[in-house]
Amino acid sequence: MWNVQMLALVGMVGYAAADVKTNYTSSVDPTKLTIPNIPQTTSHDVATQCQYYQPPVAYNPGDWPTSWQIATSNGMNTSAEFTALYNSIQWANAPNIQPRQLAPTGGLVLPGYDTVNDPDCWWSATQCTKPKHSGVNADIVQCQEPGVWGLTFDDGPNCSHNAFYDFLKQNNQRASMFYIGSNVMGWPYGAMRGLKDGHHLAGHTWSHKLMTTLTNQEVLAELYYTSKAIKFVTGVTPKYWRPAQGDLDDRVRWIASQLGLTAILWNLDTDDWAANTLPGVTTQSVQQNYQNFIAMGGNGSFSNIGNIVLTHEINNMTMDFAVQNYPAIKKAYKHVLDVATCMNISHPYIEESITYPSFDQAINQNASTATGSGVSPAASGTSFGTHSATVSAGALFIATVFGVLATL
Ligand SMILES: [Zn+2]
Repeated sequence: MWNVQMLALVGMVGYAAADVKTNYTSSVDPTKLTIPNIPQTTSHDVATQCQYYQPPVAYNPGDWPTSWQIATSNGMNTSAEFTALYNSIQWANAPNIQPRQLAPTGGLVLPGYDTVNDPDCWWSATQCTKPKHSGVNADIVQCQEPGVWGLTFDDGPNCSHNAFYDFLKQNNQRASMFYIGSNVMGWPYGAMRGLKDGHHLAGHTWSHKLMTTLTNQEVLAELYYTSKAIKFVTGVTPKYWRPAQGDLDDRVRWIASQLGLTAILWNLDTDDWAANTLPGVTTQSVQQNYQNFIAMGGNGSFSNIGNIVLTHEINNMTMDFAVQNYPAIKKAYKHVLDVATCMNISHPYIEESITYPSFDQAINQNASTATGSGVSPAASGTSFGTHSATVSAGALFIATVFGVLATL
């Protein structure tokens, strides 16, 4: 009962000062992020890892879309919060582009689009990343610093990925993590750990739909509620995002730009998620992709600029690809970095209390200071990997919100 009262109080405080485009709040201070001492962090067994994630984050369901449904669901499209947001946007300035059609098989209907002139900069049709429409943030597609492998993982967080995060932690390795809003609400400890470990968090939509097929209202809701979820759980509001399957055009980019969001795509795609799922994609072909991309680190392909590689958390198969190939990637490339660092984006969140190192700082840091320092000086030094998570007032509150229902 008192959980509801506390959440209501937090809501009142947040709404008093918030801009309508970030009209949400969080009880979490990202510079003091602490995580309950969840004992599954050393287990590689999914069932063991996930049992402590029940129940999921406590929240008022009326404030959120239905998990894994388009983010206008559960009445969000008519909620006062979302209506205020929608009405704050000058839709007359939006590019006049209609939502794309889905084929019965679930893919995009591409025929009929003018791929020669590509008036809408539709990535799915032409891989266009430089907007044709004004007032639209251009996509980031590769790290600007030479010799860099831009390390990115999509589709987290999840309750069963602690061993993978342990691996990254042990290697003092940060990555850009593109989180699905529904997963953030379902597996909040995973998202908290992502930030705590110094990874660069970015949004990956609420329900992972093909964004160009959605209405303006749906696109806005997918982006807004994902940012709201990441803020609610971790205390930071991302300024970067990635669309599912890269499906972007200038209409979607324009809506994202209204929320201050810039897309991060990629220029190398491992196809890791599709192994043994899509025709012609096998574990062997994905491994070959990795080997080809690794070879590019030594053959001059990236002597003047870096890459950004699309890989996924999703499941053990995709995480294993990353773990198995990591030593060779490190050997072939001068640097393996998250995108915030390789692009010299020191503030990838609205909250400027969190600062990421510049490229120069990152490559000149010794390993010990690089570990976890992406979050903040206040957050570094906590030995999360050895289960000694610091308990503070913040931690108690987090534990309360996320865990107390287990006893009710
Ligand atoms: Zn995805």
